Amino acid sequence: MDNTPKHPDSNFTSPGRGFWQNDNIKQDDWDNFRWQLKNRVNSLNELEKHLSLSMDERSGVLLSGDKLAMSITPQFFNLIDKNNPDCPIRRQVIPTIHETSSDPDEMSDPCGEDSHMPVPGLVHRYPDRVLFLLTDRCASYCRYCTRSRVVSGAGEAHLQTDFEQAFQYLENNKNIRDVLFSGGDPLLYADSKLEKIISRIRAIDHIEFIRIGTRIPIFLPQRITPQLCDMLKKYHPLWISVHTNHPKELTTEVKSALERLADSGIPLGNQSVLLKGVNDDVLTMRTLVHKLLQCRVRPYYLYQCDLIEGSSHLRTPAAKGIEIIEGLRGHTSGYAIPQLVIDAPGGGGKVPINPEYVLEKNSKQLVIRNYEGKSFVYPEPTKAVINPLDPAALMGKEN
Ligand code: SF4
Repeated sequence: MDNTPKHPDSNFTSPGRGFWQNDNIKQDDWDNFRWQLKNRVNSLNELEKHLSLSMDERSGVLLSGDKLAMSITPQFFNLIDKNNPDCPIRRQVIPTIHETSSDPDEMSDPCGEDSHMPVPGLVHRYPDRVLFLLTDRCASYCRYCTRSRVVSGAGEAHLQTDFEQAFQYLENNKNIRDVLFSGGDPLLYADSKLEKIISRIRAIDHIEFIRIGTRIPIFLPQRITPQLCDMLKKYHPLWISVHTNHPKELTTEVKSALERLADSGIPLGNQSVLLKGVNDDVLTMRTLVHKLLQCRVRPYYLYQCDLIEGSSHLRTPAAKGIEIIEGLRGHTSGYAIPQLVIDAPGGGGKVPINPEYVLEKNSKQLVIRNYEGKSFVYPEPTKAVINPLDPAALMGKEN
């Protein structure tokens, strides 16, 4: 009998019209991504039509808007539990006053991207791959966004991608085999505009692999149209990394959008950010990764939250991530377990962080432990390995 506790959000459900149920909106409009974008919640007034805000939230909406805008699609907004001030969806998208204070260790560019840009908008940090920032806009804005210095257009810095220079850089650097489109959210581009960029990259012989990083299937599943899927599948191998943090985000609409992408032959991975009060417990993460596999998405990375300015109220101790991985490894399918990483502050790149499974190591053996805490010895190969089928070795042995 399976006694594993079930998370309340382990099922796929639809939030439906939710807060908009009494508005006279045609179904075609509700299902149209342009309508969803046009009707985003992006002011205090609209927010207070639906929710009673805490003092921290109210001040946050008023004071943090010059750093990162607030904008939430109706589709995603409907996941908010209005009776729960600690709702994990609410914590991700509604600003609080805590965003206006910074710890001394926090930075505006915690991953050192700006110092690794050979061309505006192109981050080249690893030898064989680049990050290509297409846009500074997203369907909704995450309060912990590592790129909040440029995303949303509200802050002082602005993303000024030089597309022509970026294409030339990629054409001239034959060691680059992997291009990751990100932003902002690349899937906010119109199909034709996005296709122009993808086809230009696909025409470069040495670029083997194209990836798109996007939260659109979660914030705006209506955008994953059959037309978009038909366009993307012309450019394989093309992979997509989505971004979900809590099982509640995986609704029936999101599942269908992810299935449309998977049916187009696009391998899907998920990146989560570990956030205090959102997903910092094993049961929530286990439910999330199980739901992701049901959506045909492989959990890929679990990020320790970057040291972004004004994020201390959302960051967890590093030990929390290790505890979560420990609670997954061995307790569920290997495919369900993301790699925990810290993006090294200042631009060192992703560093994998793991629970310690090697208890002792010397030239003769490894002492390891399994997920139940039982220890085992793995002997190293001895130096004098004799191949019994080797005639020279056999002769030596006879002599
Ligand atoms: S969707 Fe991505 S880029 Fe946009 S605000 Fe969220 S984390 Fe930042």
